[in-house]
Amino acid sequence: MEPTRDSRVLVVGAGQAAGELAGALRAGGHEGHVTLVGSEPHFPYTRPPLSKAYLRGEVAIAELYLRPADFYRDHDITVHRGVAVEWVDLHGRRAGCDDGSVLDWDRIVFATGGRPRRVADPGLESAGNVHYVRTIEDVERLRRTTIAGSRFAVVGGGYVGLEVAAVLRRLDARVTVIEAADRLLARVTSPVVSEFFLRVHTQEGVDVRLSAQVELFQVEDGNVSTVVLGDGSRIPVDQVLIGIGMVPNDEVAARAGLDVDNGIVVDEFCRTGTAGVYAIGDVARHPDPLNGGLRRLESMPNAAAQARLVAEDILGRGRPYNDLPWFWSDQYDVKLQAAGSSAGYDTVAVRGDAMSGRRFSVFYLRDGVVRAVDAICSPADFAAGKALIASSAVVPLSDLQDPSVPLRRRRSFTSEAS
Ligand SMILES: Cc1cc2nc3c(=O)[nH]c(=O)nc-3n(C[C@H](O)[C@H](O)[C@H](O)COP(=O)(O)OP(=O)(O)OC[C@H]3O[C@@H](n4cnc5c(N)ncnc54)[C@H](O)[C@@H]3O)c2cc1C
Repeated sequence: MEPTRDSRVLVVGAGQAAGELAGALRAGGHEGHVTLVGSEPHFPYTRPPLSKAYLRGEVAIAELYLRPADFYRDHDITVHRGVAVEWVDLHGRRAGCDDGSVLDWDRIVFATGGRPRRVADPGLESAGNVHYVRTIEDVERLRRTTIAGSRFAVVGGGYVGLEVAAVLRRLDARVTVIEAADRLLARVTSPVVSEFFLRVHTQEGVDVRLSAQVELFQVEDGNVSTVVLGDGSRIPVDQVLIGIGMVPNDEVAARAGLDVDNGIVVDEFCRTGTAGVYAIGDVARHPDPLNGGLRRLESMPNAAAQARLVAEDILGRGRPYNDLPWFWSDQYDVKLQAAGSSAGYDTVAVRGDAMSGRRFSVFYLRDGVVRAVDAICSPADFAAGKALIASSAVVPLSDLQDPSVPLRRRRSFTSEAS
């Protein structure tokens, strides 16, 4: 499909990726209509603070918004808020919304993100004290509860669950984290980092239960009163937070006939198999240049980068997506910054004191090449790690392990690999 500066671009969703895309289109000189349709009642906002500063009550709603409302008016970007796209006709190039409106488009971008994975327990759906954290409203509902002194069960020891647990502890709640795997963050990091976060949360007063299956949420008077685990232990609770991952919102795309498989399948340009139809952000399943195959990334930098990429494609300057994946997590005074892909690593190099301190880095290598880094309160190692990964550096293990050996100056030892 030929790029045109005046094509009508319809974006399904009005979250992080959609907001970035609209801004990038106008910044790049796109002159046609840009319309965002989002099912939430907000202008595009950023979610990372939801489980951090916004939950702590330290930032206002306005600070979550990517841009003030005036921006969209001033740049002639239409944002339909509180409206969901229900169907998309790929051949007729139209989309129907739940308010009855039908929109025409020349290019359509699915930026529909995901929703929290729910526990398959009908009793839980109607319980009044069960929470998820995906939207501003979710956090406001959580903040309306009495937090100090209350007993919270956090089901799921992934990043969102642990970040919320950390904030709840800072607000003086009593917190139990229930994780089915035998370590925290098992899906996303190595045992050494899992051990570290277990130590930190335990030191901060969280009761962490590993290899713990929830057998039953006991509901009394419309609220979960006790979480019963598989080993028979009973955890009395005042509130329950479920943080067991995300499900991509790919149903509208699937009904339209697009290739959907745990997300909307796209190529390295974020294009689907139909000309003029794209998917970006959490919902997009795209080629993985690091490991082959397809991957779906749930991170803010990925959403922003893919948005910029598609804006450029629409403007006729398309390039393949091969940005290094990265993200961060804040828990207590600990900032984790992670980059690259540790999948299939064969060697781990720990730089600094992972056993008792709160500042160290872990480098992941495959066949001697640095593939990923997890930096704990070590921004310099994070920056150096990203450069090493980008250049497929081969670094002597002893250098990586020795904090007194500067990594920045050693970028040039990118010799044998790549
Ligand atoms: C609590 C929390 C903390 C996070 N912390 C971090 C972090 O520290 N670092 C990091 O890198 N990432 C973090 N993330 C992930 C990051 O926020 C996401 O990767 C990012 O928001 C993805 O952007 P997106 O636009 O793809 O999806 P979203 O931001 O989810 O936006 C999708 C929008 O589309 C709407 N929508 C869905 N279907 C339709 C439809 N049919 N019609 C209209 N609208 C629709 C949805 O309601 C939603 O508003 C966090 C996420 C959460 C929830």
